[in-house]
Amino acid sequence: MMHRPQNDEATTQTPMIAIDNVRKHFTVGNPLMAAMRGSPTVVKAVDGVKFSLKKGESVGLLGESGCGKTTMGRLLLKLEEATEGRILFDGDDLAECRGEDLKRYRTQAQMIFQNPFDALNPRFTIAQSLAEPLNNIGMAKAEQANAIQKAMELVHLPNPEQFLDRFPHQMSGGQLQRVVMARALILEPSFVVADEPVSMLDVSVRAGILNLFREVRENLGLTAIYISHDLALVRYVCERTIVMYLGCIVEDGPTEDIVREPMHPYTKALVAAVPVPHPDQSHETLPIKAGAPDARNPPSGCRLRDRCPHAFARCATEEPKATSVGNRKVHCHLFDQ
Ligand code: ADP
Ligand code: MG
Repeated sequence: MMHRPQNDEATTQTPMIAIDNVRKHFTVGNPLMAAMRGSPTVVKAVDGVKFSLKKGESVGLLGESGCGKTTMGRLLLKLEEATEGRILFDGDDLAECRGEDLKRYRTQAQMIFQNPFDALNPRFTIAQSLAEPLNNIGMAKAEQANAIQKAMELVHLPNPEQFLDRFPHQMSGGQLQRVVMARALILEPSFVVADEPVSMLDVSVRAGILNLFREVRENLGLTAIYISHDLALVRYVCERTIVMYLGCIVEDGPTEDIVREPMHPYTKALVAAVPVPHPDQSHETLPIKAGAPDARNPPSGCRLRDRCPHAFARCATEEPKATSVGNRKVHCHLFDQ
Protein backbone atom coordinates (compact mmCIF):
# COMPACT_ATOMS: atom_id res chain seq x y z
CA MET A 1 0.00 0.00 0.00
CA MET A 2 1.07 3.54 -0.67
CA HIS A 3 2.53 5.67 2.06
CA ARG A 4 0.50 8.81 2.52
CA PRO A 5 2.07 11.40 4.77
CA GLN A 6 -0.31 13.47 6.85
CA ASN A 7 -0.29 17.07 5.78
CA ASP A 8 -0.44 18.82 9.15
CA GLU A 9 -0.08 22.22 7.56
CA ALA A 10 -3.15 21.64 5.40
CA THR A 11 -5.37 20.59 8.28
CA THR A 12 -4.86 23.84 10.15
CA GLN A 13 -5.54 26.16 7.25
CA THR A 14 -8.72 27.79 6.09
CA PRO A 15 -9.99 26.42 2.79
CA MET A 16 -8.24 27.43 -0.39
CA ILE A 17 -11.39 26.63 -2.31
CA ALA A 18 -14.88 26.64 -0.85
CA ILE A 19 -17.84 25.51 -2.93
CA ASP A 20 -21.06 26.53 -1.29
CA ASN A 21 -24.31 25.02 -2.47
CA VAL A 22 -23.38 25.38 -6.14
CA ARG A 23 -25.85 24.58 -8.88
CA LYS A 24 -25.40 24.59 -12.62
CA HIS A 25 -28.55 24.07 -14.63
CA PHE A 26 -28.43 23.98 -18.42
CA THR A 27 -31.48 24.80 -20.47
CA VAL A 28 -31.61 22.41 -23.39
CA GLY A 29 -33.78 21.75 -26.41
CA ASN A 30 -35.84 23.96 -28.69
CA PRO A 31 -36.86 27.22 -26.97
CA LEU A 32 -40.08 27.42 -29.03
CA MET A 33 -41.19 23.95 -27.96
CA ALA A 34 -40.29 24.84 -24.40
CA ALA A 35 -42.42 28.02 -24.58
CA MET A 36 -45.38 26.00 -25.91
CA ARG A 37 -45.05 23.48 -23.10
CA GLY A 38 -44.71 26.33 -20.63
CA SER A 39 -41.45 25.09 -19.18
CA PRO A 40 -37.99 24.66 -20.63
CA THR A 41 -36.13 21.38 -20.29
CA VAL A 42 -33.50 21.83 -17.67
CA VAL A 43 -30.52 19.59 -17.03
CA LYS A 44 -29.43 19.84 -13.43
CA ALA A 45 -25.78 19.02 -14.11
CA VAL A 46 -24.61 20.18 -10.69
CA ASP A 47 -27.32 20.51 -8.10
CA GLY A 48 -26.38 21.78 -4.66
CA VAL A 49 -22.74 20.80 -4.22
CA LYS A 50 -20.82 21.83 -1.15
CA PHE A 51 -17.24 20.99 -0.24
CA SER A 52 -13.96 22.68 0.42
CA LEU A 53 -10.32 22.02 -0.32
CA LYS A 54 -7.37 22.95 1.83
CA LYS A 55 -4.15 24.14 0.31
CA GLY A 56 -2.13 21.18 -0.96
CA GLU A 57 -5.04 18.79 -0.68
CA SER A 58 -5.92 16.47 -3.54
CA VAL A 59 -9.39 15.17 -4.01
CA GLY A 60 -10.82 12.65 -6.42
CA LEU A 61 -14.18 13.49 -7.93
CA LEU A 62 -15.72 10.11 -8.67
CA GLY A 63 -18.94 9.11 -10.36
CA GLU A 64 -20.38 7.60 -13.50
CA SER A 65 -20.61 9.46 -16.78
CA GLY A 66 -23.11 12.34 -16.73
CA CYS A 67 -23.10 12.90 -12.96
CA GLY A 68 -21.66 16.41 -13.32
CA LYS A 69 -17.92 15.98 -12.76
CA THR A 70 -16.72 17.92 -15.78
CA THR A 71 -19.27 20.67 -15.17
CA MET A 72 -18.01 20.95 -11.59
CA GLY A 73 -14.43 21.23 -12.88
CA ARG A 74 -15.42 23.88 -15.40
CA LEU A 75 -17.24 25.87 -12.73
CA LEU A 76 -14.13 25.80 -10.57
CA LEU A 77 -12.05 27.21 -13.41
CA LYS A 78 -14.71 29.79 -14.23
CA LEU A 79 -15.25 28.28 -17.66
CA GLU A 80 -18.92 28.15 -16.60
CA GLU A 81 -20.86 30.47 -14.32
CA ALA A 82 -22.85 28.89 -11.50
CA THR A 83 -26.64 29.17 -11.71
CA GLU A 84 -26.72 29.43 -7.93
CA GLY A 85 -24.32 29.30 -4.99
CA ARG A 86 -20.80 30.56 -4.54
CA ILE A 87 -17.27 29.43 -5.22
CA LEU A 88 -14.60 31.10 -3.12
CA PHE A 89 -10.92 30.91 -4.07
CA ASP A 90 -8.67 32.13 -1.26
CA GLY A 91 -11.77 33.82 0.15
CA ASP A 92 -12.64 35.69 -3.07
CA ASP A 93 -15.92 35.02 -4.85
CA LEU A 94 -15.23 33.75 -8.39
CA ALA A 95 -18.45 35.39 -9.60
CA GLU A 96 -16.88 38.79 -8.85
CA CYS A 97 -13.57 37.91 -10.45
CA ARG A 98 -13.09 40.03 -13.58
CA GLY A 99 -10.47 41.97 -15.53
CA GLU A 100 -7.00 41.80 -14.01
CA ASP A 101 -8.23 39.53 -11.18
CA LEU A 102 -9.59 37.07 -13.70
CA LYS A 103 -6.32 37.16 -15.64
CA ARG A 104 -4.50 36.32 -12.43
CA TYR A 105 -6.95 33.52 -11.67
CA ARG A 106 -6.40 32.11 -15.14
CA THR A 107 -2.71 31.70 -14.31
CA GLN A 108 -3.36 30.21 -10.86
CA ALA A 109 -5.99 27.65 -11.81
CA GLN A 110 -5.47 25.23 -14.68
CA MET A 111 -7.31 22.34 -16.24
CA ILE A 112 -5.69 19.24 -17.73
CA PHE A 113 -8.19 18.08 -20.30
CA GLN A 114 -9.46 14.60 -20.94
CA ASN A 115 -8.40 14.29 -24.55
CA PRO A 116 -4.79 15.24 -25.31
CA PHE A 117 -5.49 14.79 -29.04
CA ASP A 118 -7.95 17.69 -28.84
CA ALA A 119 -6.27 19.88 -26.25
CA LEU A 120 -3.56 21.36 -28.46
CA ASN A 121 -3.93 23.43 -31.61
CA PRO A 122 -3.02 21.01 -34.45
CA ARG A 123 -1.44 23.83 -36.46
CA PHE A 124 0.89 24.88 -33.63
CA THR A 125 4.21 23.25 -32.94
CA ILE A 126 4.68 22.09 -29.35
CA ALA A 127 6.90 25.13 -28.75
CA GLN A 128 4.15 27.44 -30.01
CA SER A 129 1.53 25.71 -27.84
CA LEU A 130 3.72 26.10 -24.79
CA ALA A 131 4.52 29.73 -25.60
CA GLU A 132 0.85 30.68 -25.91
CA PRO A 133 0.07 31.02 -22.19
CA LEU A 134 3.38 32.86 -21.75
CA ASN A 135 2.42 35.32 -24.49
CA ASN A 136 -0.95 35.78 -22.80
CA ILE A 137 0.72 37.04 -19.65
CA GLY A 138 3.13 39.18 -21.66
CA MET A 139 6.32 37.28 -20.85
CA ALA A 140 9.27 38.57 -22.87
CA LYS A 141 10.45 36.20 -25.63
CA ALA A 142 13.90 36.01 -24.06
CA GLU A 143 12.46 34.46 -20.89
CA GLN A 144 10.13 32.09 -22.65
CA ALA A 145 12.73 29.51 -23.68
CA ASN A 146 13.70 29.06 -20.07
CA ALA A 147 10.09 28.65 -18.90
CA ILE A 148 9.42 26.14 -21.69
CA GLN A 149 12.53 24.19 -20.82
CA LYS A 150 11.52 24.07 -17.15
CA ALA A 151 7.97 22.91 -17.91
CA MET A 152 9.22 20.19 -20.27
CA GLU A 153 11.63 18.96 -17.59
CA LEU A 154 8.78 18.74 -15.09
CA VAL A 155 6.93 16.23 -17.26
CA HIS A 156 9.99 14.05 -17.97
CA LEU A 157 9.92 13.93 -21.72
CA PRO A 158 13.33 12.56 -22.66
CA ASN A 159 15.29 15.02 -24.80
CA PRO A 160 12.56 17.66 -24.74
CA GLU A 161 14.29 19.72 -27.47
CA GLN A 162 13.44 17.06 -30.03
CA PHE A 163 9.73 17.63 -29.44
CA LEU A 164 9.57 21.39 -29.59
CA ASP A 165 9.37 21.66 -33.39
CA ARG A 166 6.90 18.80 -33.78
CA PHE A 167 3.19 19.07 -34.38
CA PRO A 168 0.69 17.18 -32.21
CA HIS A 169 0.00 14.55 -34.88
CA GLN A 170 3.68 13.59 -34.82
CA MET A 171 3.46 12.49 -31.18
CA SER A 172 1.98 9.58 -29.25
CA GLY A 173 -0.94 10.00 -26.84
CA GLY A 174 1.28 9.61 -23.79
CA GLN A 175 3.78 12.19 -25.08
CA LEU A 176 0.95 14.57 -25.90
CA GLN A 177 -0.61 14.25 -22.46
CA ARG A 178 2.78 15.14 -20.99
CA VAL A 179 2.90 18.25 -23.17
CA VAL A 180 -0.67 19.11 -22.13
CA MET A 181 0.48 18.84 -18.52
CA ALA A 182 3.56 20.97 -19.24
CA ARG A 183 1.28 23.60 -20.74
CA ALA A 184 -0.98 23.52 -17.67
CA LEU A 185 2.01 23.87 -15.35
CA ILE A 186 3.99 26.47 -17.28
CA LEU A 187 2.42 29.43 -15.47
CA GLU A 188 3.14 27.78 -12.10
CA PRO A 189 -0.46 27.37 -10.98
CA SER A 190 -1.47 26.60 -7.40
CA PHE A 191 -4.64 24.71 -8.32
CA VAL A 192 -5.11 22.07 -11.01
CA VAL A 193 -8.16 20.14 -12.17
CA ALA A 194 -7.32 17.00 -14.15
CA ASP A 195 -10.38 15.76 -16.00
CA GLU A 196 -10.00 12.03 -16.74
CA PRO A 197 -6.45 12.64 -17.98
CA VAL A 198 -5.77 9.01 -18.86
CA SER A 199 -9.13 7.85 -20.18
CA MET A 200 -8.17 8.42 -23.84
CA LEU A 201 -4.74 6.87 -23.48
CA ASP A 202 -3.45 3.42 -24.17
CA VAL A 203 -3.46 1.28 -21.02
CA SER A 204 0.31 0.83 -21.31
CA VAL A 205 1.04 4.54 -20.79
CA ARG A 206 -1.60 5.28 -18.14
CA ALA A 207 0.52 4.38 -15.10
CA GLY A 208 3.28 6.74 -16.28
CA ILE A 209 0.86 9.67 -16.53
CA LEU A 210 -0.74 8.88 -13.16
CA ASN A 211 2.67 8.70 -11.49
CA LEU A 212 3.65 11.96 -13.14
CA PHE A 213 0.49 13.63 -11.91
CA ARG A 214 1.16 12.48 -8.36
CA GLU A 215 4.78 13.54 -8.54
CA VAL A 216 4.17 17.08 -9.81
CA ARG A 217 1.30 17.56 -7.41
CA GLU A 218 3.50 16.61 -4.47
CA ASN A 219 6.65 18.39 -5.64
CA LEU A 220 4.85 21.63 -6.51
CA GLY A 221 2.48 21.47 -3.52
CA LEU A 222 -0.52 21.77 -5.82
CA THR A 223 -4.09 21.74 -4.67
CA ALA A 224 -5.69 19.30 -7.08
CA ILE A 225 -8.90 17.72 -8.20
CA TYR A 226 -8.68 14.47 -10.10
CA ILE A 227 -11.86 13.66 -12.01
CA SER A 228 -12.58 10.05 -12.91
CA HIS A 229 -15.30 7.45 -13.26
CA ASP A 230 -12.77 4.83 -12.17
CA LEU A 231 -12.39 4.18 -8.46
CA ALA A 232 -9.09 2.35 -8.95
CA LEU A 233 -7.54 5.45 -10.54
CA VAL A 234 -8.89 7.83 -7.93
CA ARG A 235 -7.60 5.50 -5.24
CA TYR A 236 -4.14 5.56 -6.75
CA VAL A 237 -4.01 9.34 -7.00
CA CYS A 238 -6.00 10.93 -4.14
CA GLU A 239 -6.14 10.66 -0.36
CA ARG A 240 -9.69 11.97 -0.33
CA THR A 241 -12.61 11.06 -2.54
CA ILE A 242 -15.89 12.79 -3.23
CA VAL A 243 -18.50 10.54 -4.82
CA MET A 244 -21.16 12.16 -6.99
CA TYR A 245 -24.48 10.88 -8.26
CA LEU A 246 -26.76 12.91 -10.57
CA GLY A 247 -25.33 16.33 -9.77
CA CYS A 248 -25.06 15.76 -6.02
CA ILE A 249 -22.43 14.56 -3.58
CA VAL A 250 -23.34 11.27 -1.94
CA GLU A 251 -20.20 10.63 0.10
CA ASP A 252 -16.98 12.50 0.93
CA GLY A 253 -14.09 11.11 2.95
CA PRO A 254 -10.63 9.51 3.05
CA THR A 255 -10.27 7.28 0.00
CA GLU A 256 -9.00 4.24 1.87
CA ASP A 257 -11.92 4.40 4.34
CA ILE A 258 -14.36 4.69 1.49
CA VAL A 259 -12.84 1.71 -0.31
CA ARG A 260 -12.70 -0.39 2.84
CA GLU A 261 -16.07 0.54 4.25
CA PRO A 262 -18.31 2.45 1.84
CA MET A 263 -21.37 3.85 3.60
CA HIS A 264 -23.72 5.29 0.98
CA PRO A 265 -25.58 2.59 -0.97
CA TYR A 266 -24.31 4.13 -4.22
CA THR A 267 -20.69 4.08 -3.05
CA LYS A 268 -21.19 0.49 -1.95
CA ALA A 269 -22.26 -0.34 -5.49
CA LEU A 270 -19.23 1.43 -6.96
CA VAL A 271 -16.84 -0.36 -4.64
CA ALA A 272 -18.51 -3.73 -5.21
CA ALA A 273 -18.16 -3.24 -8.96
CA VAL A 274 -14.39 -2.86 -8.76
CA PRO A 275 -12.28 -5.82 -7.76
CA VAL A 276 -10.25 -4.13 -5.03
CA PRO A 277 -8.51 -6.90 -3.13
CA HIS A 278 -8.57 -6.26 0.58
CA PRO A 279 -8.63 -8.89 3.31
CA ASP A 280 -11.10 -7.14 5.61
CA GLN A 281 -13.46 -5.99 2.89
CA SER A 282 -16.88 -7.57 2.87
CA HIS A 283 -17.96 -9.07 -0.42
CA GLU A 284 -21.35 -7.55 -0.89
CA THR A 285 -22.97 -8.06 -4.23
CA LEU A 286 -23.98 -5.04 -6.27
CA PRO A 287 -26.72 -3.61 -4.09
CA ILE A 288 -28.38 -1.05 -6.36
CA LYS A 289 -30.80 -1.78 -9.13
CA ALA A 290 -29.77 -1.26 -12.71
CA GLY A 291 -31.10 1.89 -14.25
CA ALA A 292 -30.12 4.88 -16.33
CA PRO A 293 -29.99 8.05 -14.27
CA ASP A 294 -31.51 11.03 -16.10
CA ALA A 295 -30.29 14.48 -15.07
CA ARG A 296 -33.35 16.06 -16.76
CA ASN A 297 -35.77 14.26 -14.55
CA PRO A 298 -34.17 13.21 -11.27
CA PRO A 299 -36.38 11.58 -8.64
CA SER A 300 -37.69 13.77 -5.81
CA GLY A 301 -35.95 13.54 -2.45
CA CYS A 302 -32.92 11.29 -2.72
CA ARG A 303 -31.84 10.91 -6.34
CA LEU A 304 -30.84 7.30 -5.85
CA ARG A 305 -34.13 6.18 -4.31
CA ASP A 306 -35.55 4.44 -7.39
CA ARG A 307 -32.43 2.25 -7.55
CA CYS A 308 -31.77 1.89 -3.84
CA PRO A 309 -32.74 -1.34 -2.05
CA HIS A 310 -32.96 0.51 1.29
CA ALA A 311 -35.26 3.34 0.17
CA PHE A 312 -38.09 4.19 2.57
CA ALA A 313 -40.86 6.81 2.60
CA ARG A 314 -38.71 9.74 3.66
CA CYS A 315 -36.31 9.18 0.75
CA ALA A 316 -39.06 10.25 -1.67
CA THR A 317 -39.92 13.48 0.11
CA GLU A 318 -36.74 14.82 1.63
CA GLU A 319 -33.36 15.45 0.02
CA PRO A 320 -30.67 13.97 2.26
CA LYS A 321 -28.27 16.50 3.78
CA ALA A 322 -24.65 15.77 4.69
CA THR A 323 -24.35 13.75 7.88
CA SER A 324 -20.92 13.52 9.50
CA VAL A 325 -19.93 9.99 10.43
CA GLY A 326 -16.40 10.06 11.83
CA ASN A 327 -14.25 11.83 9.27
CA ARG A 328 -16.77 11.16 6.53
CA LYS A 329 -19.82 12.95 5.20
CA VAL A 330 -22.66 10.79 3.95
CA HIS A 331 -25.76 12.11 2.22
CA CYS A 332 -28.27 9.37 3.04
CA HIS A 333 -31.30 9.09 5.31
CA LEU A 334 -30.00 5.77 6.66
CA PHE A 335 -27.43 7.83 8.55
CA ASP A 336 -29.38 10.88 9.67
CA GLN A 337 -32.17 9.50 11.77
P1 ADP B 1 -19.55 13.98 -16.32
O1 ADP B 1 -18.30 14.75 -16.55
O2 ADP B 1 -19.68 13.46 -14.92
O3 ADP B 1 -19.72 12.88 -17.32
P2 ADP B 1 -20.93 16.36 -17.22
O4 ADP B 1 -20.60 17.43 -16.25
O5 ADP B 1 -20.20 16.37 -18.50
O6 ADP B 1 -20.81 14.95 -16.50
O7 ADP B 1 -22.48 16.42 -17.55
C1 ADP B 1 -23.49 16.42 -16.55
C2 ADP B 1 -24.84 16.54 -17.21
O8 ADP B 1 -24.96 17.85 -17.77
C3 ADP B 1 -25.06 15.58 -18.36
O9 ADP B 1 -26.42 15.19 -18.36
C4 ADP B 1 -24.72 16.42 -19.59
O10 ADP B 1 -25.42 15.97 -20.71
C5 ADP B 1 -25.19 17.80 -19.16
N1 ADP B 1 -24.42 18.90 -19.75
C6 ADP B 1 -23.10 19.15 -19.61
N2 ADP B 1 -22.72 20.25 -20.27
C7 ADP B 1 -23.85 20.72 -20.88
C8 ADP B 1 -24.13 21.85 -21.73
N3 ADP B 1 -23.18 22.71 -22.08
N4 ADP B 1 -25.41 21.99 -22.16
C9 ADP B 1 -26.37 21.13 -21.80
N5 ADP B 1 -26.18 20.06 -21.00
C10 ADP B 1 -24.93 19.85 -20.55
MG1 MG C 1 -16.74 14.38 -17.90
